[in-house]
Amino acid sequence: MTNYWTDTVTRLTPYVPGEQRSGDNIIKLNTNENPYPPTPAVMQAVSALTGDQLRLYPDPESVALRKALASYHGLDVSQVFVGNGSDEILALAFLAYFTNDKVLQFPDISYSFYPVYCDLYGIEAKTIALEPDYSINFERYEANAGGIVFPNPNAPTATDVTHDAVRSLLERHTQQVLLVDEAYADFGARSVIDMIDEFPNLLVSHTFSKGRSLAGLRLGVAFGHPRLIEGLQRVKNSFNSYPVDAFAQVAGIASLQDETYYRTVVDTIVKTREQAVSDLHARGFQVLPSKANFLFARVPQQGSEKTATPIVNRLSDAGILVRHWTRPRLDQWLRISLGTPEQMQALMSCLDA
Ligand SMILES: *Cc1c(COP(=O)(O)O)cnc(C)c1O
Repeated sequence: MTNYWTDTVTRLTPYVPGEQRSGDNIIKLNTNENPYPPTPAVMQAVSALTGDQLRLYPDPESVALRKALASYHGLDVSQVFVGNGSDEILALAFLAYFTNDKVLQFPDISYSFYPVYCDLYGIEAKTIALEPDYSINFERYEANAGGIVFPNPNAPTATDVTHDAVRSLLERHTQQVLLVDEAYADFGARSVIDMIDEFPNLLVSHTFSKGRSLAGLRLGVAFGHPRLIEGLQRVKNSFNSYPVDAFAQVAGIASLQDETYYRTVVDTIVKTREQAVSDLHARGFQVLPSKANFLFARVPQQGSEKTATPIVNRLSDAGILVRHWTRPRLDQWLRISLGTPEQMQALMSCLDA
């Protein structure tokens, strides 16, 4: 039949999210969700919403939530933007700052949504190779050739770059936006939010999905100079004026108010990470140093089988889901989200079997 799609849509290779298989005995270590629930304060805030609050549109500017975020990070509300997950923040940011005639540079091994947005918007992507040890080397990035985006810690490698390295990149790169995707900043990497006053082209994105256990809620945040934030608002108000619903606005505030709970959850995951690294080393895996809630681990090389595919399939048959890419340089590696200590033990037992 006639193809009614535009050429852009016909040519797109959409992002493929990790499998959301559910069931009693499934151990999900494939999408970097938090294995612990959000603070009970979130559930209370959500249940306290009234019918009237749902009858009406939510605050289009999410002022109360943005004020809570501003005060949490010691910023002004004009430096904070919220969206429906940080994926939406990225989508709006790419549109606001990168749909020009310049290239957008990002690591060749990185968050696989970046090339998808480039395709969708017709942005020319220029991928920059990671070093042989999978680290990002900013010397390879051409300053002022166009925008730059990278996750810190990077995904799926889990490694971070230093604050000083980002600073020296910013000192060279002043003419376009540098977007630092800090989806995993909760787990030990140093955030660069403290440089937004100094560098008006720095945008930092955060999410409530990972450290704050709210992936199902869809809440993401951007921090930057008020002029950058205004750019995001212009795009948002030309696309969907109410991206953050009434539930997410109250739940986000409740999450920020329970710092003790948040710290406990993050500390527990960091402890689980240390144990999991040593358990994987003991089984012959190579593991990159992780500052995230997941590990990037290379399967032991056995016989003629070089890729991780057989292990991924055996784990999947046993109900343990991990993430795997079949591209060169990635095909021997697993990205394993950190679950509870019991879930990690089940993974280790399955690997032994
Ligand atoms: C998980 C993730 C996001 C998106 O998170 P949301 O759930 O959309 O807030 C963004 N960037 C990276 C690198 C991620 O891993």
